[in-house]
Amino acid sequence: MFTNSSSSKSDILEYSRVEKPLNNDVEDCHKSSSRFFTCSYCDYSSTAKANVKRHVMFKHTGEKHAQCSFCERWFTTNEQLKLHIRVHTGDKPYQCSYCPSKYSQSCHLTAHILKKHKLPN
Ligand SMILES: [Zn+2]
Ligand SMILES: [Zn+2]
Ligand SMILES: [Zn+2]
Repeated sequence: MFTNSSSSKSDILEYSRVEKPLNNDVEDCHKSSSRFFTCSYCDYSSTAKANVKRHVMFKHTGEKHAQCSFCERWFTTNEQLKLHIRVHTGDKPYQCSYCPSKYSQSCHLTAHILKKHKLPN
């Protein structure tokens, strides 16, 4: 029961708006698929081949999906990438407490301490 006639009018307006053609700039994955690179595992598609490649690696193969912007090497996790990027930025936050040596990765510092300072533990 609709006592308010104005609400049904707005409904009609909504329908007429939907019938308008979609903007060509909108990426419509249902149409013009020939322009898209598609994922061979699922329905994902993109105009950029690199996007699909990244998508496959991230979503399906579960392999390297983090790319270094300095040397374009790929890494399995963002953490690994972060550690790697220090090679380029020269960021060495791990300072040896026994000598002035600095390291970009904690495991390198640990190895250094064990090797050079021969700590009992
Ligand atoms: Zn996919
Ligand atoms: Zn790199
Ligand atoms: Zn040291």
